[in-house]
Amino acid sequence: MMIQIDGSYGEGGGQILRTSLALSLVTGKPFEIHNIRAGRRKPGLMHQHLTALEAARQIGRAVAQGGSLASQSLTFIPSAIIPGTYHFSVGTAGSCTLVFQTVLPALIQARGESELLLEGGTHNPFAPPFDFLAKTFLPLVSDMGPEITVRLERHGFYPAGGGRFRVHIRPCSELRPFHLKKRGEIQRCSVRALLAKLPRHIAQRELKVIGKKLPLPGAVLRTEEVEDSRGPGNVLFAELKSEGLTEVFSAFGERGVTAERVAGKVVRDVKEYLAADVPVGKYLADQLLIPLALAGKGSFRTLRLTRHTRTNMEIIQKFLDRDIRAEDMGNGVWEIRVSPSDKAAV
Ligand code: ATP
Repeated sequence: MMIQIDGSYGEGGGQILRTSLALSLVTGKPFEIHNIRAGRRKPGLMHQHLTALEAARQIGRAVAQGGSLASQSLTFIPSAIIPGTYHFSVGTAGSCTLVFQTVLPALIQARGESELLLEGGTHNPFAPPFDFLAKTFLPLVSDMGPEITVRLERHGFYPAGGGRFRVHIRPCSELRPFHLKKRGEIQRCSVRALLAKLPRHIAQRELKVIGKKLPLPGAVLRTEEVEDSRGPGNVLFAELKSEGLTEVFSAFGERGVTAERVAGKVVRDVKEYLAADVPVGKYLADQLLIPLALAGKGSFRTLRLTRHTRTNMEIIQKFLDRDIRAEDMGNGVWEIRVSPSDKAAV
């Protein structure tokens, strides 16, 4: 039976397509999607989504109909997941970390190891920066059983792109569920201002704001000059390590936005996270839903749910027989619980 997906649902962005592709591969269920990215100023498939589609098509030996630039509908029929060596290139500065996340769920439970090379943007606003993948998201997925190693070969910033990273995946047969309820003390904290082909004072000004407005005891603040990128770029990262995970917060320098404003975003995000005393930040929350749903059960505590998280909860339940519930625990804390659905038991 063909699953019907409405791409205008909820958040109405590219994630609806990527989640559908990821879970179609894992379950072998074909789907049809309409209104792709209807919630965006320029709707339809962009290069990043097309590359994600192409990656899913190759890895799932799938038939895809209707997937071309700017198209708003497509049909995807997978056949079998074939692990192996693959190279996917977005061709623009579009995020290749998002392309990777589309095929990861299938490959962590495939029948053999995989070696991926991904090219495009590795450090994009509105997508997981490589550092977030490597330090926040993948360690948690690896804790569930698979062995995943990533290596950044070149930074790719918007608009020049040209970034590159490699991934090695050793799958596991069953994913272990997790319960991430408590964060505990922050054990280590560091702030890095990444700078490529831009004046050093940008990083210095960003770090100055952090030093003044975000008193993190024992934090190491440093500038990191990137030599390998094709174009200019600036990202400010704050990394907070607690018992169960490391959360990575980021903000991107842009033309017309002062270094102080960039730093201000990181200050706000970190303060909100610390005040809520939860382990899982707002971006990680929507990204953890797929691995947790694949494990069949588990839970975590996070901040007030984003539209991405709410939308992902709905789309996942179209492919998998899971109950995904969210409960408001008060004081800006939410708990998400995944369990096998009653339907599955019947
Ligand atoms: P669109 O162009 O339609 O907005 P998209 O395909 O670029 O779509 P979204 O659907 O908006 O992407 O999904 C973006 C994903 O990137 C989400 O999973 C979100 O959690 C993640 N993300 C965004 N910003 C960050 C960040 N700063 N750190 C980590 N992850 C992030």
